[in-house]
Parts: sequence; structure tokens; C-alpha cells
Amino acid sequence: MASQDADATRTDQLQFQNPKTRYPSIEPPEQTQPEPGLDAEMLPQADIGEFSYRGTGRLVDRKALVSGGDSGIGAAVAVAFAREGADVAITYLPQEEEDAQNVARIIRDSGRQAVTLPGDLTDASFCREVVEQAVEQLGGLDILVNNAGKQVVAESLEELPDEQVEQTYQANILAMFRTTRAALPHLPAGATIINSTSIQAYQPSPDLIDYASTKAAINAFTKGMAMQLADKGIRVNAVAPGPIWTPLQPSKGQPIEELPEFGKDTALGRAGQPTELAPAYVFLASPESSYVLGSTIHVNGGKPSP
Ligand code: NAD
Ligand code: MG
Repeated sequence: MASQDADATRTDQLQFQNPKTRYPSIEPPEQTQPEPGLDAEMLPQADIGEFSYRGTGRLVDRKALVSGGDSGIGAAVAVAFAREGADVAITYLPQEEEDAQNVARIIRDSGRQAVTLPGDLTDASFCREVVEQAVEQLGGLDILVNNAGKQVVAESLEELPDEQVEQTYQANILAMFRTTRAALPHLPAGATIINSTSIQAYQPSPDLIDYASTKAAINAFTKGMAMQLADKGIRVNAVAPGPIWTPLQPSKGQPIEELPEFGKDTALGRAGQPTELAPAYVFLASPESSYVLGSTIHVNGGKPSP
């Protein structure tokens, strides 16, 4: 097994440091990519933790499935889980193979098994298939991270076609119902489910109403499922990121001209980096959060949310 410590730099997440200056306040140049966007093409590059997340053995021998684990927050979660000792399966769209292979490499370099599962989660049968494949190849499943998501700006309701609304709902919330349903028969007591919601559930941007409303739905789904599964010993929680520099943003997730200002409206005055989300997911996946269910951890640089 590769040394986890050797992979981390002096400024890993456990280093005492000023959160304001841990990362620079980036001003991404105006840029665009076709949806879903690639980490490999981002300017500047985002930090998914390859050289900045140090594991401390909190998820040894756990088996995790992370949807959208090829890039951004999901990639950072997959990397952190592997550094904490878990084997990890990631799902992604077929056009994201390059990013997915990079994350798989980091997982393997961390001494853990990586499973890559390309496909479209708006297809109900793929939601079932990813769970079956993850269970088969990992030899079980005890962490499910429903993280894949679609965000495309539309200035007004008149410019938001039903087709986009339906696709956003399919990818963000219907896939969550389907994947979770498929996973349930495999999850033992002690297993955890973590859903990626958003600050948009609380402070919807006027040009993201389809996306924001799926995130509010995810919040209610998370709390209701937590109550439904508590008796089985399965905990369900959510993480609500604020503005994080990921491929979602420069692939129509924000108006292009607003990218240079992205994240500057937070109390810390900067966008978050994907790896800054990872410790929240690790905490919720680990048994140390045994009394935490139906909760949301807000990781947003200081945009107070309920
Ligand atoms: P990202 O683009 O890196 O990750 C999203 C992933 O979703 C993609 O990599 C893709 O693999 C997957 N995906 C999208 N549509 C899919 C489909 N139809 N089928 C299968 N997979 C699909 O961006 P990210 O910002 O890391 O997003 C991860 C999650 O975090 C999303 O749920 C997003 O809504 C949420 N989030 C992000 C931010 C932010 O500022 N970046 C803020 C709040 C919430
Ligand atoms: Mg991606």
C-alpha cells in the first residue's frame, strides 16, 4: 500500500492554517466547456486533494459508491475515501473518461481498489446497474454518495424549456430515488448515505430555479429517508456546498461573464476548492458520526444557511 502521508503536502487539511489564505481568491478567466465539463480543462485547475488530503484510517476497508466521482466534489470525496482506507466505485458520463481515469489512478496509488462505471443516471436502468456493478466488484457496499448533478443557467422561466427542467430533475433527484432504492437491499446496519445538496436550496439564484428546486427536494428526501432508515441502522445525511470551483461552473453552470467573480461574495472572499468538501463527507461516512442523521453540513465559505 502506498504511503498516505507521502502523498500529502505540508499544507494538507490537518495543517493549522488560515482558511482565508489556504487557497488564493481565484479569478477564473471567462471560459466555457460543453456540458458536463472536464476537470482536465479548467483554468485554473481545481484541487481534488491528490497532494492535499491526508488520510488517518477513518474508513479502513469500507466500500463506497460515489456518483459523479470523476471530477469536482465527487472526485475529492473519492480521493479522500481512498486515503482513509476505502475501496471506491465512481460513476460518470462516458465523455468524462479522462477525468475518471485520473481519479481511478489516484485511488489505486493510495493503495485501494477503484471501480469505474460510465453511464447516464437519467436512465433508470443505469441507476440499478451501477449499484449491482459496485456491489459485485467491491464485494459489497456500505457507503453511498449521491453526488452527480446537473446545473445549467437560464435567465428566465420563459427561457427554461421543459426539456431542461426534466433533465435536471432526472439527474439530480430522480436518480437519487432510484440509486438509493437499488442500494438498500445491499446496505448493512452501519451503512451511510450522503447526498450532495446546495446552498441553492436555501438561497436560490434567479437564473437557477430548476436546479435550486431539485436541491430543496434533495433536502426533504434526505431528512425523510433518514427517518425511514434509522431503525435499520442506516444513516442518511446531506452536505450543502457553497460556491466551489468545479467543472459544473464553466460548463454553463454560471453566466460566463460572472466567472471571474465566482465565490467572492462569501465571508472568506474566495471560492472553495473541491477537497475542502471532503472532510464533511468523510465525517458523515464514518462511524464517528453515529448520532448524526437527517442533518446537513454546510461548507460554503461563510454564507449562513438555516
Ligand atoms: P462536477 O461537474 O465536477 O460533478 C458533477 C458530476 O455529475 C459530473 O462529473 C457528472 O459525472 C455527473 N453527472 C451530471 N449529469 C449526469 C448524468 N445525467 N448522468 C450521470 N452523471 C451525471 O461538479 P460539482 O460541482 O463537483 O458537482 C457535484 C455536486 O455538488 C452536484 O450535485 C452539485 O449540484 C453539487 N454542488 C456543487 C456546487 C459548486 O459550487 N460546484 C455547489 C453546491 C452543490
Ligand atoms: Mg465531471
